[in-house]
This record gives sequence, C-alpha cells and structure tokens, in this order.
Amino acid sequence: MINMARKKETEEISETSEESEDVLEDIKISELENAPVSENFKIEDISGIGAATIKKLRDAGYTDAMGIATSNPTTLAEICEMGEPTAAKIIQAVRSKLKMDFVTGMDFLEKMKNVKKITTSSKALDALIGGGVESQAITEAYGAYGSGKSQLAFQLAVNVQLPEDQGGLNGMVVWVDTEATFRPSRIIQLAKAKGLDPEKTLQNIKVARAFSADHQVLLVERIPELFAKGFNIKLVIIDSLTSIFRSEYVGRGTLAERQQKLNKHIHDLQRLADRYNIAIYVTNQVMSRPDIFFGDPTAAVGGHILGHASTYRLYLRHSKGEKRVARLVDSPSMPEGEAAFNITEDGLSDIES
Ligand code: ADP
Ligand code: MG
Repeated sequence: MINMARKKETEEISETSEESEDVLEDIKISELENAPVSENFKIEDISGIGAATIKKLRDAGYTDAMGIATSNPTTLAEICEMGEPTAAKIIQAVRSKLKMDFVTGMDFLEKMKNVKKITTSSKALDALIGGGVESQAITEAYGAYGSGKSQLAFQLAVNVQLPEDQGGLNGMVVWVDTEATFRPSRIIQLAKAKGLDPEKTLQNIKVARAFSADHQVLLVERIPELFAKGFNIKLVIIDSLTSIFRSEYVGRGTLAERQQKLNKHIHDLQRLADRYNIAIYVTNQVMSRPDIFFGDPTAAVGGHILGHASTYRLYLRHSKGEKRVARLVDSPSMPEGEAAFNITEDGLSDIES
C-alpha cells in the first residue's frame, strides 16, 4: 500500500509539470449542449474537451458525467489543472445534460413505499434505525477495530437471504472485501443459527477482493452487470469503504483528490440503492491519525462527503464482553439514540434484561 501511495505521488508530480494541451477556456456552453441527453452520457460526450483532460478526469475518478455533475468548481479546477470558471462551465453543462429533474412530493412518497428492511437480528438495533437496514439507502457503521462493523456485515449477508416474514428479502449479496476479512466460516456459523443451508447461503454471496481504490470503484461500477445477468441482489456490502482510500492517499496534498474519488464512489452506491431498490451497508474506520485529517479526531474517515451521503450512520463501540453499543448519528428521519446488543457465536442478538 505504501509503495502504491508513493508511486501515485510520483506520478502526480510528473503530471503537474505537464502543460495542459486543451484550450479549455474556449469551451462554449452551446457546444456542450450538443451532447446527447441521457443517463449514460459519458465524459467523452462533452465536446470541446480533449483527450488529455479526459485522461485527467478519469485518473481523478471522474469516470462518468454524474461524478462531474456532483463536483464543485474548486475541486474540479484543482484536479484537472484548469481555471475555476472553466470548471464551473463544464459542471453546469453536464448538469443540464443529465436528468437531474425534480420529483414531486407524491412521487417521492410513492418511491418510499417500496423501501424494504433487513433485520439485524437485534430488535433494539432494528428499532434504532426504524425497523432494520433500509433499501434505497446507505447505512454506514463506523467505529474502532473490533467494534463489530464486520460482524454486522456477516449478519446482514445472512439475514437478507431469509424470507420477508423473517426479516429478510429473499435476496443475494455483493460483498466487496478491502481488508481480507471476509470469512466463509463465519457465514456458515450464522446460516446454521438461522436454519439456512450453509452452502446455499455462501453461494448467494458474491465476494470480490478490492486491491486498490480504483479497483474498488470499478467493482461497484460493474454491479449493474450482475443485475443484467439476473442475479437477485438485495444487499451490497463494502467492508471497508475507506481503508484503501486512506492508505493510498496519504497526506493533505492528495486530500481533495481522495475526497473527490470517494464522493464519486459513494454517489455510485447511492445510485445503485435507488435504481435497484437495494440496501447498501458500508463500514468505516475511525481515525487513528487525527493529525493527517481535519476536524474531530473521533470522526469517521471521509469527512463531510460521507456524512451527507449515508442515510443512516451508526457509531459502534465495544462495551463489556459480548456487548456492543450502537449510536445513531445524523439521521434524516429518526431521533438520535443508542441501542445495545450482543455478538455471540450465533451472531447478533438482543441483551436479555
Ligand atoms: P470490526 O469492527 O473491526 O470489523 P468485527 O466486526 O470483526 O470488528 O468484530 C470482531 C469481534 O466480534 C471479535 O473481537 C469478537 O468479539 C466478535 N466475534 C467475532 N466472531 C465471533 C464468534 N464466532 N463468536 C463470538 N464473537 C465473535
Ligand atoms: Mg472489520
């Protein structure tokens, strides 16, 4: 990882010294508006932008127009070495091309009716987050090592396979493993505890190991292919969302780029959640080197961007023995609060009173 990060830094230095060949300041909004209108609008469709800029955009993680549309001029200008007015023009043009329409409150309500919930196996924890881990949303658990973030992932990966009347969605799982902590043996234990066939349960989990931030982003970009093949995926797990980003982008020099790439990645996840009515569960480590990052030293990696994107943020901490405490932070619709639960060999459970 350290080597990768160094390599990246060297590349950045050599890129910075290159002059941009594109005459970006000459771009006219009217030219940009000739691009086709579609959700699949690509950055290559932006006329007036040359190959060098497209490369810069791609290298910075802007692999689709939505990434640009959700960016801001300052970041885009910095990453692509262009003037801020040009960056603003590009963003504006891309936004106008994308279907970023308003929906009515009624449409919104209709969509919310389709929200499904996956039980965590703890009634207390389910209640804290409004009945379980929701579809059309990102649920983020952050906390220290051993706080139970991955254990909740294992539990959800099994529970989502249960029938609806048992708190599941009869669905399959995509598990992006960035820390090599996925354990089939743990799935087998939890499946047995739920009366599920352990082999079938494992077969319903598509695990992919991510080796770099770009690889992680790519894996998520390819999830629609699984839907196209007919897999009934109801849950996507990224364990952990931020660890690779964190080790690849060391130091403040690359912070903007890291945040931008992470922003795009989270946006991809949010779009998956909406488009396929699936639940997204991501884990996030708390910072151990607060000097590297800004703000509250107990805050999660990724800062504000992640904070705004996840619909449910849970701060997990290890209490005594098997006991864990989850605190709901920044929920749009649920009050802040805490829930305690146990993690045992059989998985998550409520604490007997
Ligand atoms: P992290 O938040 O770092 O992902 P984990 O979710 O991996 O942490 O939690 C690890 C903890 O979960 C262990 O320290 C242990 O307390 C508990 N745990 C893991 N497997 C079992 C098991 N089979 N039986 C009981 N407890 C377990
Ligand atoms: Mg873990």
